Amino acid sequence: KAKNGGRRQVSFFETSLENSVVEQNWLKNALREALDKDEIVPHFQPIVDLSTRETIGFEALARWTHAERGAIGPSDFIPVAEQCGLVSALGERILRKAAAVARHWPSHIMLSVNLSPAQLRDPQLALKIIAILGEAEFPPSRLEVEITENALIADLETARDTLVKLRAAGITIALDDFGTGHSTMQHLTACRFDKLKIDQRFIRTLTASDESQAIVDAILGLSERFGIRCTAEGIEDLGDAEILFRRGCREGQGYLFGKPSQNTEFCKSTTELGRMRLA
Ligand code: C2E
Ligand code: MG
Ligand code: MG
Ligand code: MG
Repeated sequence: KAKNGGRRQVSFFETSLENSVVEQNWLKNALREALDKDEIVPHFQPIVDLSTRETIGFEALARWTHAERGAIGPSDFIPVAEQCGLVSALGERILRKAAAVARHWPSHIMLSVNLSPAQLRDPQLALKIIAILGEAEFPPSRLEVEITENALIADLETARDTLVKLRAAGITIALDDFGTGHSTMQHLTACRFDKLKIDQRFIRTLTASDESQAIVDAILGLSERFGIRCTAEGIEDLGDAEILFRRGCREGQGYLFGKPSQNTEFCKSTTELGRMRLA
């Protein structure tokens, strides 16, 4: 009996392993094709001022709709793109497309893009970004790049050099998913950041967990002491927005204000939510 169960487990494991290898290979090939066919595009999610509810910027988030498979999320294809060396090409493509859209926005609206760890290992990254902005006629002062703490681990020297160059060009640097990476505090002193983005897992559990509230308070305190801005990610209801605002958080992002979308509806989010003032 036990033997049977054991065998079944082994074969199940082998099957799922095989599936995942097949799946990864399928993804790799499909991703190459998607890049050739230019099928991956940025969608935009508003970032709002929590006191006025006005949209102050949009984060570009990569979206891929496969002809047969339908929507494939970035959490599935970005890691694959990293593995097969396609993430830099993909990142440049997203930046170019996003800047082409964002240059038509009102000039106070910022554009945020995500940079992957592999991109930050490229010593030419800052030059590439600045060149793309030049071609798109998009001012560097309106661009924010979001990096994760994990992007600083592999090659801190190269990453730091890139961030210094980007800042010198007027680009804003945000530390994304803050509180979930490795050796958080060290990174805060190793590089200069303009903004911390509190990871959505702390926001999701905000009302249910005293620990999450303590962590959020600590991050807000840190950002105040460092004199840098702070954005809360993943705000889904008004209650969370109110708690965050009362605790001193001034910027927010989440489904409450708008989902990522191909049309940038900053006017809608401003007028509809603008009336719901926070206490
Ligand atoms: P991220 O940069 O932390 O982006 C925020 C993620 O949270 C997005 O997921 C967004 O759709 C989702 N989100 C925003 N508000 C809410 C909310 O209220 N509730 C919930 N449940 N989710 C919310 P998405 O678009 O699936 O992207 C996942 C991750 O993939 C991003 O996390 C980012 O790390 C990466 N990514 C996306 N686009 C790009 C890209 O162009 N380049 C790179 N390198 N990474 C990207
Ligand atoms: Mg991000
Ligand atoms: Mg994030
Ligand atoms: Mg995240």
